[in-house]
Amino acid sequence: MTRQGRWTRRALLQLVGTTLATASAVRILPRAAHAGSQPGRGAWAALEQQLQGRLLTPQLPWRNATAAVLKKLRNPFWIQEQPEGLQSTGWLGGWTAVASTRAIAAESAADLAAGVRFARQHRLRLVVKGAGHDYLGRNCAPDSLLLWTQPMQGIRVHEAFMPQGAPAGTAPLQAITVQAGVRWLDVYAAATAAGRYVQGGGCTSVGACGGFILGSGFGSFSKRYGSGAAGLLEAEVVTADGQIRRVNSHQDPDLFFALRGGGACSFAVLSSITLLSHPIPTRLGLVTGGVQASDDAAYRELIEAVLRFYPSHLDNPHWGEQIQFNPDNRLGFLLTALDLPDAQVRSSLETLLAPFRAQPDRFRVAPEFTFMPFADIWNAEAWERMKPGMVTRDDQPGAPQGRFWWDGNQGEVGAFWNSYDSLWIPTQALKQRPDQVADAFFNASRHRGFTFQINKGLSGEATEARQRDLDTALHPDCYEAAALVICASAQQYRYPGLAGHEPDIAQGRRDANQVQQVLATLRQLFPEAGTYSNETDFFLKQAGPAQWGPHLKRLQAIKRRVDPSNLFRVHNGIGTLNS
Ligand SMILES: Cc1cc2nc3c(=O)[nH]c(=O)nc-3n(C[C@H](O)[C@H](O)[C@H](O)COP(=O)(O)OP(=O)(O)OC[C@H]3O[C@@H](n4cnc5c(N)ncnc54)[C@H](O)[C@@H]3O)c2cc1C
Repeated sequence: MTRQGRWTRRALLQLVGTTLATASAVRILPRAAHAGSQPGRGAWAALEQQLQGRLLTPQLPWRNATAAVLKKLRNPFWIQEQPEGLQSTGWLGGWTAVASTRAIAAESAADLAAGVRFARQHRLRLVVKGAGHDYLGRNCAPDSLLLWTQPMQGIRVHEAFMPQGAPAGTAPLQAITVQAGVRWLDVYAAATAAGRYVQGGGCTSVGACGGFILGSGFGSFSKRYGSGAAGLLEAEVVTADGQIRRVNSHQDPDLFFALRGGGACSFAVLSSITLLSHPIPTRLGLVTGGVQASDDAAYRELIEAVLRFYPSHLDNPHWGEQIQFNPDNRLGFLLTALDLPDAQVRSSLETLLAPFRAQPDRFRVAPEFTFMPFADIWNAEAWERMKPGMVTRDDQPGAPQGRFWWDGNQGEVGAFWNSYDSLWIPTQALKQRPDQVADAFFNASRHRGFTFQINKGLSGEATEARQRDLDTALHPDCYEAAALVICASAQQYRYPGLAGHEPDIAQGRRDANQVQQVLATLRQLFPEAGTYSNETDFFLKQAGPAQWGPHLKRLQAIKRRVDPSNLFRVHNGIGTLNS
């Protein structure tokens, strides 16, 4: 495993900004209802000695924050380089960011195993955090030991990968192995340099080896390559008994199944994963802009036209990303087109738009097209040249050149969630009763805007990708779905507990109510529709069936076998559904 990161133990200690607390400085917290017990001073001291400086006393980065720190808290990469850095700061009435008692800045599987064994031995609540992008607060807990994986930055490209234990005659595959702290941007850079592509997430700063994969994970091109979990070939994990194991479809296939979409941190800790790589695509088209309707009736007409158009034109392996349904009667595009001739991208959209273009008094039709070699997609400089305003660079001193995040993801940095919810929309409904779906979409849009995320509904998925997906724990509703509808509301740069920067609770309730109205309107039409476990409501009802559908029983049986003492438990995860 090559180390590409710039982390050294010394740098980490400087970053924490404090000398390591000695065991005597550790405040022994009272036992909380959900937590285990707290180890004694001697136990902490022994762990500290074993880890040689990698046992930290973390604190939330905004605790007593100065103006300079508040500015840094707008940079997602800076946040995740703090041991207790979190993208989201809480959820109205749900969870609030909190620091663990101690944190292990893990540099290896052995460090993770030391933490697992310690937590198990002392019945201590264990939490794991990688890139810290969770919406649901599953990456923090009071009175806990945190395994912080950010220092594990190794990446290795394989020309011929063979899963351990594979029978003789198994064909080797091209693949990439990444350690637990690696983010998608770094994986894409390594893959592009090797002329390959790996199906990960759209957001550059989301972790490649953490919640994304464990929850299934979708990227812009998932209709072509499948979910993130579908590309998982092998995982090195630490199981609840503290052992380091290699898991794949030949070695403990049940646990491997659970790791592919069975939910965040519920079965084992990922130390590294190996992902299938594909030949790099050649061409990327991007459609932005949209259509403004002049009044409600025109907008309702436009919505139905889009829903009728979608199954035959966009629900296929070439298309990804989203369509936005806004309350101001504006339809927004953020669509990707993969490996289609530029003229065909334009003409496909024109099939939808021409009738509206012909009515300029009722519709303002303004799509924008950008085309580029696919290899430029992770190149900040190319975006700045072609489409200014799409990316923000990491301007920290010493940040790797070219590191960036999408401007569209800025709104989720420092987010205190008022509400967030999602559901899969069946493609059959669009084909068989587009008028009813259009009514529901129009009525829902009166409350608040929402996105129709087409790469998170896989009914138009490529056949070979579907074969891989069928071996995962992904909710089968996704295979029938045109898209995942997401509606959310957040207050940005709000930090519970920081005077002057607290969230506005009254405003939060009003906005949360809008989100709930949107989803309630859609659920009237699709009462049984499932939801994506990484991007769903904290207050989800029927959380097991809604997230995993028919896979639930199998996942629960695997959980009982591999983690009988329920060491790995997160909100609405397999281990907490009945608690
Ligand atoms: C700005 C933004 C953009 C996003 N874009 C997408 C997208 O394009 N597609 C998509 O599908 N999702 C997307 N997501 C959702 C994302 O997949 C989830 O939030 C996911 O949980 C993030 O995982 P993480 O490892 O980065 O975060 P973390 O907060 O570090 O971890 C999330 C969960 O995974 C667990 N975990 C982390 N590392 C490990 C490990 N090594 N072993 C075991 N458990 C671990 C944690 O305990 C926690 O429960 C996005 C989220 C944000 C905030």
